[in-house]
Amino acid sequence: MITAVIFDMDDTLIAWAESDLDWAAIERAHLRGVIDYLTREGLAAPDFEHLAEVMEVRTQAAWHSADITLIAPHLGHVLVAALIECGIPAGRIDERACLRAYGWNGLPGVHAFPDAAPALRALRARGLRLGLLTNAFVPMWMRDRELADLGLSPDLFMSRVSSADVGYLKPHPAPFQRVLDGLLAAPEETVFVGDNLRADIGGARQIGMKAVLRRSADQEPPSLDGPLAPHASLTSLAELLPMLDEWEKDSKQSTVDS
Ligand SMILES: [Mg+2]
Repeated sequence: MITAVIFDMDDTLIAWAESDLDWAAIERAHLRGVIDYLTREGLAAPDFEHLAEVMEVRTQAAWHSADITLIAPHLGHVLVAALIECGIPAGRIDERACLRAYGWNGLPGVHAFPDAAPALRALRARGLRLGLLTNAFVPMWMRDRELADLGLSPDLFMSRVSSADVGYLKPHPAPFQRVLDGLLAAPEETVFVGDNLRADIGGARQIGMKAVLRRSADQEPPSLDGPLAPHASLTSLAELLPMLDEWEKDSKQSTVDS
């Protein structure tokens, strides 16, 4: 019996496709906040252009090696290392204060899929426990702000995990286990919904969950064979609850038949 549903965040609950973001400009605006904070603290703030350059190189390096190692990059750790490289004494750097100064929120053009909030509420009303697992560069407390800005209350989810807080990215089993622990759920009674075959579907299947692919209407339905094959796919989250009901009926029927 399914008792919990875990969602990926980006391109599963939140739509990025229509956004056209200048990431370099966004990053620079956030770094200005850090420089202002350091100045307020009486520290000799590093040269802005130098810090921006060091951050870019370190961020790219962290994601590049993560592709192979699945070790999750963490904005706070990268930022602290960059500040040290720029000459700020390590003992004077408060990572959490730097992240608060960096700031994080919903971005222009990014929105929650219109089917997300109604589907989440319907699943909760059915008594299912909800979780969220994101391969994110920022810790979950920062993504919580983003969820709230996008109209998806973090309180909808009993367990929310960012890979940055765990140290490993999906499809590594560690972040899946962390979110399951928060839900007090076993993998066999859990469904994972995500848009990425390797990270979401492969990772969820490997740990023993049922895996559902969220795809856009113009994407071909996936093959339902092989280690990265989902158990099902859907183009709207409104299809999820009827799908779970159907599975429940089938599993009751197969118990009766045997
Ligand atoms: Mg995703």
